[in-house]
Amino acid sequence: MPKPLRTLIVEDSENDAELLLRALRQAGYEPIHERVESAQALRAALAGQDWDLIISDYSLPGFNGLEALKLVRDQGDDIPFIIVSGSIGEDIAVAAMKAGAHDYIMKGNIARLMPAIERELKEADVRRERWRAEEQSRYLAHTDPVTDLPNRVRFHEQVQQAVATSVRGGRPMALLLMDLERFKEVNDTLGHKHGDQLLRQVGQRLRDALFSPDTVARLGGDEFGILLPRLASVEDVAIVCKKILAVFDEPIVIVDIPVAVETSIGVALAPEHADNADNLMQQADMAMYRAKKSGGGYVVYAPEYNPYNPQRLALMAELRDAIEHNQLLLHFQPMVDIKSRRILGNEALVRWQHPRHGLLAPDKFIGAAEHTGLIAPLSRWVLVDALSHCQGARREGIDLRVSVNLSARSLHDPHLPEMVENALTTTGAEPGRLTLEITESAIMLDPKRAEETLTRLSRMGIRLSIDDFGTGYTSLASIARLPINEIKIDKSFVAGMLTGKSDATIVRSVIELAHNLGLAVVAEGVETQETFDALAALGCDEAQGYFISKPQACEPLKSWFPASCWKLGAAG
Ligand code: C2E
Ligand code: MG
Ligand code: MG
Repeated sequence: MPKPLRTLIVEDSENDAELLLRALRQAGYEPIHERVESAQALRAALAGQDWDLIISDYSLPGFNGLEALKLVRDQGDDIPFIIVSGSIGEDIAVAAMKAGAHDYIMKGNIARLMPAIERELKEADVRRERWRAEEQSRYLAHTDPVTDLPNRVRFHEQVQQAVATSVRGGRPMALLLMDLERFKEVNDTLGHKHGDQLLRQVGQRLRDALFSPDTVARLGGDEFGILLPRLASVEDVAIVCKKILAVFDEPIVIVDIPVAVETSIGVALAPEHADNADNLMQQADMAMYRAKKSGGGYVVYAPEYNPYNPQRLALMAELRDAIEHNQLLLHFQPMVDIKSRRILGNEALVRWQHPRHGLLAPDKFIGAAEHTGLIAPLSRWVLVDALSHCQGARREGIDLRVSVNLSARSLHDPHLPEMVENALTTTGAEPGRLTLEITESAIMLDPKRAEETLTRLSRMGIRLSIDDFGTGYTSLASIARLPINEIKIDKSFVAGMLTGKSDATIVRSVIELAHNLGLAVVAEGVETQETFDALAALGCDEAQGYFISKPQACEPLKSWFPASCWKLGAAG
């Protein structure tokens, strides 16, 4: 079967063209050809269809091979271009090759023609293949494979462009970040495949709800970005947010199960809130966090949400002093072994006794400390204070473990293991008495580095615990690789386990899976006898919460121990 070959011949002599065609046919091709002899005809032929090959004479009346070549290359075409000429000199041949001809052949040496054509066609195939692969990888680099929406990288570029245009023209634009509540529940109960299905449907509903030029992207996990590059007025953003929230009024059906989708949206506006993409993303993120905390819906950014705002910064300046002048203090909350009803240890929870604002809870200053570099001295202070209380109590015959919370920033601080080592040496506490609590999200920030750090800490004999388990996106399977000893089920699931069927399912399956992996399970936020009993029935190992005791300062806690109904220390 002759192979069809779309061949464009730039040649004034019909006879010479016929010779070329004959050579092609003899070599097994079926040339679909056209012969042109002027620039104008060449242009028309190029515009008319795609060509596999161009064979050009050098000298034509009023036109030549070099001009033909330039015309082809100017159009951006990289088609194999071979000059066949009776009169070409060495200098012109070199010029032709420099200008991008693939080969030149003397008319008297037509035997060379076919091998040259074969070679050039093969190379063109390779070029095309490479181009296709590059296109594909460009596409993949900018597209989320699950939803087919633009990914974070692409979205960031789009935001950059939109912010620049908005700042230049003074016309408002909005950036929305949207997060799904409890997406993890779907993933855990229905499996990742169905989790992906849910994400696709969420993406589709968002796309359907918006008009061009608004764009939707999936930024990772259950986070979506929406860009409204041209707002008629700032007020319009409220309308769009309500519309987006409304598209999730109807549950999404996954394998016949209607899944209620709740979302939190954070909004930031340019040029009002920021004049660059990074700041705008950060502000939308802060607003989204607010929306999440207030139970969903949408929140438009306001400067007071910003940890960098002047009031927060003033507080941070004071925090530095507070760490140095012992205004921080620890409260301790007991953790009890459910079966033996014995107190095994306490969790240290930091507070700030502020001279004007009173006793501040950690959420008032930990986040900001993370952003200002104060988290390292704060973590060090907490660790040393917790361990010295632990040692002090031990000298009084109260031998309990102590759990210390580590923020994400501290986990990724390369000096963490040394810092912990120092704290143990300074206080003389045994490593086995210390448990470090890390959140899933802290690990996910950089799983590889987290694994290295955790391995070092574990080798030192320190216990490791995953705090607030269930609120992030880690699966227990991914934790299995880490040297973790315990999992603390987040209090939101524990609180809902008696009333919410899905919370009860999550608590039960976390306990089962964790036990299969040899991990101890602590339930936090246990507020009632009923919850305690339900956890006991599920085989949960330890409980912590107001039902047992609120967090208390060290001295009151020591007097509480003997008065309480819980026995002290591990049995035997
Ligand atoms: P967490 O580690 O999950 O601590 C448990 C939080 O739940 C504590 O809030 C505790 O007071 C509260 N809680 C305990 N039992 C119950 C209960 O039965 N019901 C309810 N509703 N809540 C209960 P707190 O002390 O405000 O601490 C909040 C978070 O701040 C902690 O969550 C922890 O992530 C962080 N944190 C506390 N101390 C430190 C610290 O020294 N360093 C770092 N990096 N973070 C800390
Ligand atoms: Mg904790
Ligand atoms: Mg917790």
